[in-house]
Amino acid sequence: MTRAARAIIDLGALQHNLRKVRDAAPGRRVMAVIKANAYGHGMLSAARALSDADAYAVACLDEAMVLREAGINKTIVLLEGFFSAAELPLLAQYGIAAVIHHDSQLRMLEQTPLEGALRVWLKVDSGMHRLGFAPEAVKAAWQRLKQLPGVSLAGFMTHFASADERGGDSTRLQLHCFNQTLSGLAGERSLANSAAILAWPDSHGDWLRPGIMLYGVSPFAGQSGAGLGLKPVMRLQSQLIAIHPRRKGERIGYGGDYTCPEDMSMGVVAIGYGDGYPRHAQAGTPLLVNGRRAPLIARVSMDMVCVDLRGHEQARCGDPVILWGDGLPVEEVAAAAGTIAYELLCRVTPRVRMQLSAS
Ligand SMILES: *Cc1c(COP(=O)(O)O)cnc(C)c1O
Repeated sequence: MTRAARAIIDLGALQHNLRKVRDAAPGRRVMAVIKANAYGHGMLSAARALSDADAYAVACLDEAMVLREAGINKTIVLLEGFFSAAELPLLAQYGIAAVIHHDSQLRMLEQTPLEGALRVWLKVDSGMHRLGFAPEAVKAAWQRLKQLPGVSLAGFMTHFASADERGGDSTRLQLHCFNQTLSGLAGERSLANSAAILAWPDSHGDWLRPGIMLYGVSPFAGQSGAGLGLKPVMRLQSQLIAIHPRRKGERIGYGGDYTCPEDMSMGVVAIGYGDGYPRHAQAGTPLLVNGRRAPLIARVSMDMVCVDLRGHEQARCGDPVILWGDGLPVEEVAAAAGTIAYELLCRVTPRVRMQLSAS
C-alpha cells in the first residue's frame, strides 16, 4: 500500500465559491486568481473547473504558459506583468495581458518593438505602497502607454492593503485615492480581492479579483469560510500508522517536548512538514480522527505527527485523519500555527498526492 497522505480537491466546491463571488457582486466580471498553482490546489484542474470565470489571473508568464499549453484560451492577466523585455514576444504571441506597475516596464515597452498586440492594465498605487504608479505619475504613464503601437489599455488596477479590516479607514482612503486619480480617464477598473468583494461593495468596479474565497477560505481573521457560505476546496488527509499506550511521564517525539500527563493512548499520523503540514503547529492544534477532533501533541516531524487519542479508544491503525478540510477549517489550523490559511494551502508539497473529486 502507498502512503496515505493526500489532498482531495473538491472541484464542485470551487464552482460553488465562484457562484458566491457572483452573488456578492452581481453583474461584475471575474478574474479568477489561480496563481501559485491555484493556491496549492492544482492550477490546471482549477482553471478548468472555473471555466465560468471571465478571465484568469496568475503571477507570471511561466504560470500563464502552463494554461496556454494546455489549450486554455481565455484571457489571462499577469498580476506582476513581465520581468524582462524577453517575455514580450511571448505575451503578444499568446495573447497574455500584463499589469504595468513600474517605470522600468514602461521603458522596456518603449525600447522593444512589439510584433503583435499587447493588452495592459495600469496599476495605481493608491496607498499599499508595494507596486504601482504613484497617483501623480499615473496620467503621464497612461499617456506614454497610449503612444506605443500595438499596446492597448485594458484598464486600471489597484490593490488594497487592509480590505480584511471591515471598519478601517485604510480601504476607504485607497478607494478615494483611486477614484480621484482616475477621474476623467476612460478605462475599466479592477480593485477588489476577496476581502473587498465581501466587505467593500464600493470597490467592485468592473473586474473582481477573487483568490482565497474561491478556495473556500475566509479572508477575515476570526471568521470561517463556512460562515460566509463558502465551501472548503481542499481536504488534507492521511491515516494512523501506529497506536501506542504510553505511561504517565513518558516523553514523545523530537526533543521530548511532550510529556504524558497520565497513562494514555497516542497515535502517529503519516503526514509532516515534508508534506506541508506546518512545523509550528502548537500542541493542541485539532486534527480529525474518524471525523472527531483530537489534539496534536509533540513536535511535528518531517513525515509524521503525533496525536492524543484519549477519548478515541476505538481508533485503529489505518483510520483516516483529516488535517484540514470540511469540518476542520484550514483557517483554524493556520491560527494555531501562527500563520494564515493562504500559506498553508500554498505550501502543500508535491509528494502529497492530489486527488480530484466533484461534489
Ligand atoms: C493574489 C492577488 C489577489 C487575490 O487576493 P485574495 O486575497 O486571495 O482574494 C488579487 N489581486 C492581486 C493583485 C493579487 O496579487
